[in-house]
Amino acid sequence: MAEPRPLTDEERQTYEWQIWTADFGEAGQERLKGASVLVSRCGGLGGVVAYQLAAAGIGRLILAHAGNVRPNDLNRQLLMTHEGLGKSRVESARRRLQELNPRLEIDAVPENISESNAGRLVGEADVVVDCAPLFEERFLMNREAVQQNKPLVDCAMYDLEAHLTTIVPGKTPCLRCLYPEKPPAWRREFPVFGAVSGTVGCLGAMEVIKLVAGFGETLAGELLTCDLREMTFRKMKINRRPDCPTCGG
Ligand SMILES: [Zn+2]
Repeated sequence: MAEPRPLTDEERQTYEWQIWTADFGEAGQERLKGASVLVSRCGGLGGVVAYQLAAAGIGRLILAHAGNVRPNDLNRQLLMTHEGLGKSRVESARRRLQELNPRLEIDAVPENISESNAGRLVGEADVVVDCAPLFEERFLMNREAVQQNKPLVDCAMYDLEAHLTTIVPGKTPCLRCLYPEKPPAWRREFPVFGAVSGTVGCLGAMEVIKLVAGFGETLAGELLTCDLREMTFRKMKINRRPDCPTCGG
């Protein structure tokens, strides 16, 4: 993790209510200020992760998301606005985040994660948050995070269900241990409410805050499944696959 950075008086005032958290404190806030976090896709899930991290005072966000805002993004992509229709998603995200927190450093990359950028973008971050809807991108982020020894928070959703886990390379199983192959029925577009993506986004942001500041218990090695239709939340242990193509052997 990067070096903590000392706070200004203005920052101490801004983050006062969270600094009151006993096992976080000013030392935790300084760690957030020193940290860089990569968020892959800043749509329904990643946009809320980024918004919460901006509010919490993370030092630097690297946002990767291609394409322009479409009308059917607006039910859940809370960093996008009606005025932003037809314009760059990642620029909309940058503008909204900067309005909330002008101290925040933002690297807005108008690309999705691919073979050509994954290594470099993961290399720039202390923690990686994967919010991509495609297994190809999730597997790439997982591979780079494992190779570069960076903690990865993986967020996913479908309909009213959500999954969340934290991968700590060398300590926990990885995403390919959980999903050795892309599930055959997976679809790029799926039913979802913004309240579902927002729930998972907030949970994912809390995982990042705990990883960076070093307090509380994360979902390392466990999968949290949330069913918001029935309001059931469960945690299960993830087992390592000795033959995992990414972290095995
Ligand atoms: Zn693995």
